[in-house]
Amino acid sequence: MPTDFNELTQRLPHLVETCRAYATQGRVATYIPELAHAPQLALGITLRHKSGLTATAGDCGIPFTLQSISKVITLLLALMDRGEQAVFEKVGMEPTGDVFNSMLKLELVQPGKPFNPLINAGAIVVSSLIDGDTAEHKAERVLRFVRDLAGDDSPSFNESVFRSEEATAYRNRSLAYFLKDNKVLDQDVEPTLHVYFKQCAIEVTCAHVARIGLILANDGVDPSTGRQLVPKRYVRIAKSFMVTCGMYNASGEFAIQVGIPAKSGVAGGILALVPGELGIGIIGPALNDKGNSTAGVHLLRLLSEQFDWSMF
Ligand code: GLN
Repeated sequence: MPTDFNELTQRLPHLVETCRAYATQGRVATYIPELAHAPQLALGITLRHKSGLTATAGDCGIPFTLQSISKVITLLLALMDRGEQAVFEKVGMEPTGDVFNSMLKLELVQPGKPFNPLINAGAIVVSSLIDGDTAEHKAERVLRFVRDLAGDDSPSFNESVFRSEEATAYRNRSLAYFLKDNKVLDQDVEPTLHVYFKQCAIEVTCAHVARIGLILANDGVDPSTGRQLVPKRYVRIAKSFMVTCGMYNASGEFAIQVGIPAKSGVAGGILALVPGELGIGIIGPALNDKGNSTAGVHLLRLLSEQFDWSMF
C-alpha cells in the first residue's frame, strides 16, 4: 500500500520525540576529534515524496558531514566514470559481518580485494577510481555530484572535519597502504585518501540527504524534471549494497527490523528510501555499538512498522 503521506506528516513529530530518548543510550563518535562536538541528543528527519511533498520533524536543520553515506555516492560516480567491470575488478559484492574499518578479511580471504564498496577499504579503492586530474579535482567532482543529486548547491566541504580526520586516520592509512601493497590500489595512497576524507567531510542537512534518497527511490530520475541523473542499473547496484552492507555489521538485523535500503555514517546521518515512493534523511549523532545512529534506527523501525515499508 502506498504511504499515506499526510498521515505520516501528522504522526512524525510525536515519533521523533519518542525516539529521541534512545539517544541517551548512544555515544557521539570521537575517533575523528572534530565529530565529538556534535549535539548528543539531536534527532531530526526529512522525508521527500516523489509527488513533491516534504515532511520534517525535530532537528532536521542541523548540518552534519556525510561520512560513510558518501560511499554510496562515490560508488555511483565511479560506476558512471569507469563502468561496472572496472569497478568490480577492484572491489567485491559481499557483506563482511565485520566492523566497517576492519582489516581482518583483507588478508584472510582474497588477498587485498575488499569485500564491498561500503566498508572503508572498499570505499578507498572506489575513491581512487573517480575521474579527475588531481585529488582536488576528483573531490570537487564528488561534491558537484552530491549537489546535483541534492538539487541544491549548498553542500560544501567542512574543512575542520576534513583536517581532523586527515590528521588522525591511522587506521585508514594502514588500510590504504595494504591495498597499495597488494596492487588493488593503483593510485598513490595520500592523494587517494585526500579524496576519501574530503568526500566524508561534505556537509549537508537532512533535506539534502532525503532528496538524494528520493532520486535513488525513483530509479535515478529526478521526479520534478524527469531527468535521469544516474543510470537505473547503477542505482539498482547501489540499493542492493545498501540492503546487504549499508548499516555495517548490523545490516542483517536492520533488514529484518526495517527492511529498506539505508546507509549510515559516523556523524549520525542515515540515508534511506522507500523504493518507488520517497527518500529519507535522518540525523542523530549518538551512535549504537555498531556505529549507527541509535535514535535514527529506532525512528526508521517505528516508521517502517507503522507504514508497512519492509520490502520483504
Ligand atoms: N570517515 C569515516 C572513516 O573513514 C567514515 C566511516 C563511517 O562513517 N563509518 O572512518
